[in-house]
Amino acid sequence: MPPNRFDQPAAAVPITPNEEMKRIEAAQAIELEWWANTPPVTSEQEIADRLAVGTAHLLENKGELPYRVSEKIPEPFRVLDTKAAALLTEIAQQWREQLNDQELFLVVSSAARTVDRQQALIDQGYPGAPDSSHTRLMAFDIGISWLADNDPNALEVLEQTLQTLQAEGKLNYIFEPTVGVVHICVHPAYGEERS
Ligand SMILES: [Zn+2]
Repeated sequence: MPPNRFDQPAAAVPITPNEEMKRIEAAQAIELEWWANTPPVTSEQEIADRLAVGTAHLLENKGELPYRVSEKIPEPFRVLDTKAAALLTEIAQQWREQLNDQELFLVVSSAARTVDRQQALIDQGYPGAPDSSHTRLMAFDIGISWLADNDPNALEVLEQTLQTLQAEGKLNYIFEPTVGVVHICVHPAYGEERS
């Protein structure tokens, strides 16, 4: 594999065209409604507290996992709600199984954010609204630039996997090609028994 397997955004964030921005905002509205009654996290301490009580999961780079965490994410933000972390594993495992390659992994380029960090990313030029499911620890981004350039079939299979899981009501996903990620948010009922 080429050495730049960890999807690194360019130093300057490319400007997302208006049309793409409108599509992203419309799709974000769906998941913001799902999580409207969950307050956003406002400090790194809150994220640490969630880890301490076990309602959040620390994303680590372990060989056996079907995903890796980009070194670009500051350590305090390598965290997801346990539900979102379980969804990440399910997506990556299904994707790997369909490609029949246990060496493959997805790269998480963004996970938890505080309200301040969300605003800082917007100020840097990333597409987003001040209110985000990332600040509920319910969303993560997967890098797609490397796949698009080096393994288009793997990217196609990822999109199919996301389509299937979205049809099952498990998630909301948004392709953000300008910045090179697919954003994924877990549905509130994910992982709960259906009667
Ligand atoms: Zn995102």
